[in-house]
Amino acid sequence: MSPSRDTLVDALSMKGGTGDHSYATNSHYQRSVFYEIQPTVIESVREMLVNVDYPGCIKVADLGCSTGQNTVLAMSAIAYTILESYQQISKNPPEIDCYLNDLPENDFNTTFKCIPSFQEKLKMEPKGKCFVSGVPGSFYSRLFPRKSLHFVHSAFSIHWLSKIPDGLESNTKSIYIKYPYPPNVYKSYLNQFKNDFSLFLKMRSEEIVHNGHMVLTFVGRKVSDSLSNDCFQVWSLLSDCLLDLSSEGFVNKSVMESFNMPFYNPNEEEVREVILKDGSFEINKIEKFDHVVPYKIDRQEEDEHQSLQLEAGIKHASWARCITEPLLVAHFGDAIIEPVFNKYAHYMAKYLSVSNHRPNMTLVIVVSLTRK
Ligand code: SAH
Repeated sequence: MSPSRDTLVDALSMKGGTGDHSYATNSHYQRSVFYEIQPTVIESVREMLVNVDYPGCIKVADLGCSTGQNTVLAMSAIAYTILESYQQISKNPPEIDCYLNDLPENDFNTTFKCIPSFQEKLKMEPKGKCFVSGVPGSFYSRLFPRKSLHFVHSAFSIHWLSKIPDGLESNTKSIYIKYPYPPNVYKSYLNQFKNDFSLFLKMRSEEIVHNGHMVLTFVGRKVSDSLSNDCFQVWSLLSDCLLDLSSEGFVNKSVMESFNMPFYNPNEEEVREVILKDGSFEINKIEKFDHVVPYKIDRQEEDEHQSLQLEAGIKHASWARCITEPLLVAHFGDAIIEPVFNKYAHYMAKYLSVSNHRPNMTLVIVVSLTRK
């Protein structure tokens, strides 16, 4: 039997290990976005150090660190910035305490294996010490002692909700907000996001020191995106694949109809509204980056070059698979995984082969905040 709506999120994690379908192997997209937002992270760390007056021990957290190199990359950028900033004003290097947080099902071990080489490099130049520990638990709860953190980073994580929103019973043709959707669907998702993001800010406001900083990066959507569009093409395509399997009798119809993604990609106004309402953080800046995610298919289109695009389709499918496999397995069982992502690869290949298709842009939102 599939788990209930309330417990499905317990299965949320990215695919562990270092195999072909793992998050560690398939998360270049998230990595490439990190390179783009790195200047914002560095700027925020520097400002934080001036504001908190260069303490002897700096505590840093990466929330939703997942598994593999990405979190180490982010932590390195932060640790190097801290150590270089102390060097520049000829202060003794601080000791850095670095906490990697994710849900308990996360494969922390794959990440931990990358830590010794990072620590060795840091010891050589710029000669600093960074102590790393894992913190299992939900970032929608308190994870750290009161007023203990100086800098919080979180990338590609807070678009994941704490639970499947209430009121989605009528959303049977899709696993997310896919046009045309029943009237309450968008509102249910938005309410859940607002509750979750407020809770996230409340928890962090208790944990972060006065003048501490936080940089959050997540998948969003444009303010101008009309609600007559699908909200996130990746889930629209996955919906199509699951519906196909259901109509082929491979997946039970009611199991298909009861699945909804615990995910919401807000627009900038929705994000700003929650931050202002919470009131404990100053917004330093909100930036937006467009990223190409060509995930829309049109089954009517003829395609001539499909085979050429299959390889690309398979790559896209691996990416979607590494972020959804544990969740899908918890709801549908593991027999679904190969067929669903084979379909995904083929549909994607078909999309890519249609020359007059313009890729859809996904908006990445980056928010830099200071604890008041
Ligand atoms: N920051 C990494 C990983 C992003 S994947 C990167 O940029 O590549 C998103 C991660 O958020 C997943 O590992 C998922 O398990 C985690 N996550 C989702 N909800 C969470 C929650 N409530 N608490 C902690 N981690 C969560």
